[in-house]
Amino acid sequence: MKLASRIALIKPSPTLTIQAKANALKAAGRDIIGFGAGEPDFDTPLNIKEAAIRAIHAGFTKYTPVGGTDELKDAVIAKFQRDNQLTYRRSEIVISCGAKHSLFNVAQVLFEEGDEVLIPSPYWVSYTDIVFLTGAKPVVIRTRVGDGFKLQPAQLEAAITPRTRAIIISYPSNPAGVCYSRRELEELAAVILRKGIMIISDDIYEKIIYDDQPFFTLASLGDELKRISVVINGVSKSYAMTGWRIGYAAGSEEIVSAMTKYQSQNTSNPTSIAQKAAVEGLNGPQEGVGMMTREFQKRRDLIVERLTAIPGVTCLKPQGAFYVFPNVGSYYGRSFGEKVIRNSAEMATYLLDEANVALVPGGDFGHDDHIRISYATSIAQIEKGVERIRLALLKLR
Ligand code: PMP
Ligand code: GLU
Repeated sequence: MKLASRIALIKPSPTLTIQAKANALKAAGRDIIGFGAGEPDFDTPLNIKEAAIRAIHAGFTKYTPVGGTDELKDAVIAKFQRDNQLTYRRSEIVISCGAKHSLFNVAQVLFEEGDEVLIPSPYWVSYTDIVFLTGAKPVVIRTRVGDGFKLQPAQLEAAITPRTRAIIISYPSNPAGVCYSRRELEELAAVILRKGIMIISDDIYEKIIYDDQPFFTLASLGDELKRISVVINGVSKSYAMTGWRIGYAAGSEEIVSAMTKYQSQNTSNPTSIAQKAAVEGLNGPQEGVGMMTREFQKRRDLIVERLTAIPGVTCLKPQGAFYVFPNVGSYYGRSFGEKVIRNSAEMATYLLDEANVALVPGGDFGHDDHIRISYATSIAQIEKGVERIRLALLKLR
């Protein structure tokens, strides 16, 4: 059967593929440690679940406006005001089926063939494919570990051409947990403004940030930056709501109404019940986020300590999100029996087959010397999993 050529441009999401593989192996009885899934292991808070149950009983089970209910838009507006000192109107907000959907939709309405879209690496696995599906070209800017995987203003400047439409930037980042200070953001912003490109800011890990660092989204650093930004966020990570599929975007009325039109011809509205739950997440008590983050910080400290104690493994200390991105490249070229490990995909396969640990190859994030570990799992699992990785690496000759 002939499939449309656009489908050959992309790969299945590597993170979701690993997670499915790990789940299938677990179901088949294998004792797998799951470091693949990028989702909080905490349950959705009870007040949020109850809001959804109330919505079902009240019959709030029909279509809503395509771009989300006014109630949820108002909760999102209040969140931007409270957390980011950004003022938006309802016409500048669109609710979608997850932040991934918001990113997909904004890319569809902004980019086309001939455009270039900048993506600093290491990047989240879906950005490049989301851009490919618009016909535009993703241009990866490779950041250096010596710069803490932070995009440098000179690198940004050098990557911009007359075809560049936008940069997709996300911090705390997936996979390295990189954060930027206000000063660093202002330096990047100066280049962006001078060159006249747009900003797509994926703020999904905004709340999962360590050591009491402040978070600034680029749009909050000035009116001109707000005008050229589309801010993406959602409830998946902050409220442990990955399965509910609610994300949102804020930007100019022109872009938001185009995204809403696009959505009206594909998903229609996001689930009515999940929208009610998201309202409770955003407007209800916020203690859960802090509790989760404190727990993630403990796990980060432990996992970084254990990983860097393995000979030949180096690892930056993440400043947010719940991933570590260690460099295991010194083990490439070594073998286990007949099998030589040459890259991150082979390393991930080896660790799954021999150590029963599921994780994602760094190559999928643009840095093949690395592997990505999600530490959104218990301390006991982290200790056991890293020990398995250590033993498996030391077995390589
Ligand atoms: N952006 C980044 C950087 C992510 O890691 C994820 C992971 N899910 C998303 C967006 C998508 O989130 P959502 O579940 O809201 O679609
Ligand atoms: N963002 C998470 C991850 O990186 C969840 C899976 C996905 O949507 O990619 O693992």
